[in-house]
Amino acid sequence: MPTAIDWSLDPRVRSLFKYLPLPVKLPTLLRRTDLGSPERPLGDTRAIVTRLRTPADFAVCARLALHGAAVTVLDPRATNAQLTELAILGVRHAPWTMDLATVLASAGARQDRRPLLLVHRLAATPAGATAVNTATDELFQVGQAVALAPRNSRLIVLGDTPPNDDVPGRLSLEAARGCIRSLFKELGPAGSTCHLLRLDGASADAVADAVAFLAGPRAAFLTAWDVRLGADIGQDSTWSGKVVLVTGAARGIGASIAGRLAKAGATVWVNDVPQAEEAARKTAERMGSNAFVIPADCSSDAGAKSIARALSSGGRLDAVIHNAGITRDRTLKRLTLDQWRQVLSVDLASMVRVQEAVQPLMTKGGSLVLMSSVMGVAGNFGQTNYTAAKSAVLELARIWAENQAAQGIRANAIAPGFILTEMTAHMPLFNREMAKQLTALLQPGLPDDVAELATFLAGSESRSITGQVLRCDGGMFLGA
Ligand code: NAD
Repeated sequence: MPTAIDWSLDPRVRSLFKYLPLPVKLPTLLRRTDLGSPERPLGDTRAIVTRLRTPADFAVCARLALHGAAVTVLDPRATNAQLTELAILGVRHAPWTMDLATVLASAGARQDRRPLLLVHRLAATPAGATAVNTATDELFQVGQAVALAPRNSRLIVLGDTPPNDDVPGRLSLEAARGCIRSLFKELGPAGSTCHLLRLDGASADAVADAVAFLAGPRAAFLTAWDVRLGADIGQDSTWSGKVVLVTGAARGIGASIAGRLAKAGATVWVNDVPQAEEAARKTAERMGSNAFVIPADCSSDAGAKSIARALSSGGRLDAVIHNAGITRDRTLKRLTLDQWRQVLSVDLASMVRVQEAVQPLMTKGGSLVLMSSVMGVAGNFGQTNYTAAKSAVLELARIWAENQAAQGIRANAIAPGFILTEMTAHMPLFNREMAKQLTALLQPGLPDDVAELATFLAGSESRSITGQVLRCDGGMFLGA
């Protein structure tokens, strides 16, 4: 639950701001809830898919249609067989004219205030400079279409990872990366977002899962992802019967993640320090009968052992969300060694301690989610201890992804930006406003935004993603 209200989203405050001569940009209310119904979360979305060449393109079209989007395919090379199959799901076809604006206009886009979802597959390029021109022209068109589209629109660019000798392919992909790195800053004030997914061995279904997640309301606060989708690491999709541990889960982001996973059907172990046992119990009670509390300091050997002892009663562990964290902010010259050690111990070493203790219980197909921070990527004044820990966490996710792949276990780090919790509730007003103005979406995130991402990473929807850093920051300019 948010612990502070973001007044800049209140319509009365917005209209007041309009008349004040302040250099403050106001955010757009994000569409975090299902646009149709839980079964059809894209029920109010107009989707355009630019190519229908591979099984992944087909799976994406079908998935978006099943989630309720009104999908149009633009590819003139789409086969009749493909289109007939998709037509059953209500997918329409329009020729790719190279002038997307015309297509949008002919589809009634100018009057249509529904958000636009544009899924653009970079072309598999023939050799030569012309190919680069074609790919970059298309990029201009799809980018501009989303920039001109109604609020809360999204662009998802899909690019195959080209072989080393495919020079035009490599240049087109890099141009797309560069474009996304700037475009998210322009789209943010309208609540619109953009992403690049690099396809590198993922199954068609796994690509469709990733696109559906990024297209939907659960990903409203995510933008500017540049993520590789590699070979699937198997995991079945049901949460029922699965066991998850969340550290530091009495309140804030951890409590939200635990609640979200319990709602999905997992058995959830809520860990927090013994001093927070009462709060942890209340959190677990809200989650129903499949939640249990482990009061233990996860940064001590004894705490890690008692976590493992408690979990061993269930005999399995499918996911660990290493979330516990603290801050002791001071410039390095004023920081004590004790304050340095406390942060490194809770925010970094505890992950290694707990994982070593629970590793024997991990199941094949399991997932590890490590809580880092955008500050771990960018650095921050007065946070040397915190950023040392959070930077090392990014590396730990890469190490575990490598070392545990053989056991079918994935590991990824989340880098949240400014999220409304007790940890950030005491930030001075000026710093809070600065943080918002340095975020493309001009607003802080909610614990539930991180919880949705953690649930995605802990489960099978993200089976093609491992060893990566996923930002949950509304497009913070820091480190981007
Ligand atoms: P929070 O302070 O609200 O909650 C952290 C929880 O961790 C608390 O319940 C606390 O008791 C628990 N904890 C602390 N030390 C522990 C220990 N040794 N053993 C077990 N539990 C312990 O913080 P939050 O904002 O919910 O942050 C959660 C995670 O997200 C942290 O790792 C934090 O660094 C990270 N993060 C938060 C933000 C943000 O804006 N809130 C941004 C970036 C990263």
